[in-house]
Amino acid sequence: MNEWGYARSMAAHQDGEIGRFAAERDRLLDSIRQPNSDERVRSAMRRVLREDFVPTDLVADAYLNIALPIGDGQTISQPLIVEQMTTALLIGPGDRVLEIGTGSGYQAAILSLLAREVITVERIPRLANGARDRLARLGYANVRVMDAAEQLGWPSAAPYDGIIVTAGAPELPLQLLEQLVVDGRMVVPVGPIGEQELLLVRKTEKGHEIDNLGRCAFVPLIGRGAWPPVAD
Ligand code: SAH
Repeated sequence: MNEWGYARSMAAHQDGEIGRFAAERDRLLDSIRQPNSDERVRSAMRRVLREDFVPTDLVADAYLNIALPIGDGQTISQPLIVEQMTTALLIGPGDRVLEIGTGSGYQAAILSLLAREVITVERIPRLANGARDRLARLGYANVRVMDAAEQLGWPSAAPYDGIIVTAGAPELPLQLLEQLVVDGRMVVPVGPIGEQELLLVRKTEKGHEIDNLGRCAFVPLIGRGAWPPVAD
């Protein structure tokens, strides 16, 4: 590549326009477009390279619209669901957002381009460390990856404008609602193991309002107020 081509490709890379899988990424984004899609969310998803967040041997599958294994029995979520959950949160540029379930760090990277600050919590130390290193290396400077404590969420930095739970809870986690501002939004999969309803919950002065966004399937949310860890 000549010098001009190199400079151009570097600039384009910063905009997320290229990379090995630019065409695949555009195709995937076209295929998951919804009537209510938000251009800010779509642009963030165009700039975050999913291939950087999947295990090396699955890089070729990074732009299939499916969840993929990331080790420790966990998964990076399906892009369509990532798009739907992120859109539902209605994140503004000044917002502070909490994610429960860092996993690979992919969802946190997308949130970081939309919000002022992202705090993301993970209970499996190997995944937390991996995501922390990956997000720092890729330059997502406004994300903090926390090792989950006993209580769900991250109350010491509350309240948040938005909370996204990327694991399935047995019932609506009220401890997390307490960590939201009034008028704050939370998206959370709720229901039995392997099959949940995606709920959008808005905290009000008096309580909360719930919209059901439809079926989904997440790995379990584990801990006090959620599912017990499976003995292995
Ligand atoms: N958002 C992730 C995918 C998450 S998979 C991504 O973009 O890749 C769900 C994650 O939630 C798993 O890594 C799991 O270990 C984690 N998890 C489950 N229960 C948790 C809890 N109580 N607190 C924090 N993380 C939890």
